[in-house]
Amino acid sequence: MNNKILITRSSMPLFEEYINEIHELWDTAWLTNNGRKLKEFKKNLSKYLNTDHISLFTNGHMALELTLQALNLKKGGEVITTPFTFASTTHAIVRNGLKPVFCDISIEDYNIDVNKIESLITDNTVAILPVHVYGNVCDMESIQKIADKYNLKVIYDAAHTFGEQINGESICNFGDASILSFHATKVFNTVEGGAVIYKNKKLCDELDGLKNFGIRSQIIIDGIGANAKMDEFRACMGICNLRHIDEEIEKRKKVYEAYIQRLKNIKGIKLCNHKKEIKYNYAYMPVVFDENILNINRDQISDALERENIFARKYFYPLVNEYECYRAKYDVSKTPIAKYISDRVLTLPIYSDLDIGYVDKICNIIKDNIKIKI
Ligand SMILES: *Cc1c(COP(=O)(O)O)cnc(C)c1O
Repeated sequence: MNNKILITRSSMPLFEEYINEIHELWDTAWLTNNGRKLKEFKKNLSKYLNTDHISLFTNGHMALELTLQALNLKKGGEVITTPFTFASTTHAIVRNGLKPVFCDISIEDYNIDVNKIESLITDNTVAILPVHVYGNVCDMESIQKIADKYNLKVIYDAAHTFGEQINGESICNFGDASILSFHATKVFNTVEGGAVIYKNKKLCDELDGLKNFGIRSQIIIDGIGANAKMDEFRACMGICNLRHIDEEIEKRKKVYEAYIQRLKNIKGIKLCNHKKEIKYNYAYMPVVFDENILNINRDQISDALERENIFARKYFYPLVNEYECYRAKYDVSKTPIAKYISDRVLTLPIYSDLDIGYVDKICNIIKDNIKIKI
């Protein structure tokens, strides 16, 4: 058991399965621009996610960036969002000439704290951009109420929530749009890839243009777009991986439950509570270590794991409002809960083929280190 264990390992179809899928591309030599495989993948994915309001992208970030552009929000407008996320969320706002306004997170699920959103709304607020972090689902009802009251758009960064449902309905069917990521490190991957699930068909028409340079026809170019289309090879990877996704999530669930079994009820260790009404995808295994109770901090636990060749990640540390490129403009003390969690969280390795023996090993290292200090 001395192999390097990383936080994640990409799900891959059998080699032959993928080769079989891409074979046809050698007959048609049609490699991108809405080819047959893309259409097939889109059809299968629509069925899986139970929506026909879906647009495919080359990655999740461009899906988010172009969605913000397509919504045509007032230039310089403020977007209320969370600092406890991946760089992409905030960069997409700033790269659209909009201004991120950081709202603190809830200590329960690390998502945007709905009780603190209203106090941040000004005449310049144009949208709310929450993240369903680690696959924990935001309080979407409260967010929509606030958005309706102040006439704001709601765009969910749903990069962590592939396949999740609330009371049987897809998580992506809320707000004006939800963005999914199919990056190699995510629960479902197309190598790189992403999608937007939208409420209004008009947004889709905009996105179709913007993801292909705004080109509508040979002579009509009506938008200042980018290139963010998904190609046929990614679509083939998607077709293959989608066939096995339920099985993959089932296997992740077993790993997740093994961790919970071994780490629950330890004073000083905080795990996320899962809600009954939600079907989870077990994307991440976040654990918060309270150094005041444990006498050992997150960084020391992370180092102890690394000495045994186990590489957990400090997701999300640093906070976005602490990044070199943003910190001069923001005061991190205004998001104290986010700061508290970011300084103490460690996401442990989780993927479908992670042997439970490794979960034992990881949990034993954690427990041994806690004991030594006590
Ligand atoms: C992965 C991720 C993205 C971006 O997705 P890519 O497909 O890598 O571009 C955006 N937001 C969050 C929260 C993510 O984790």
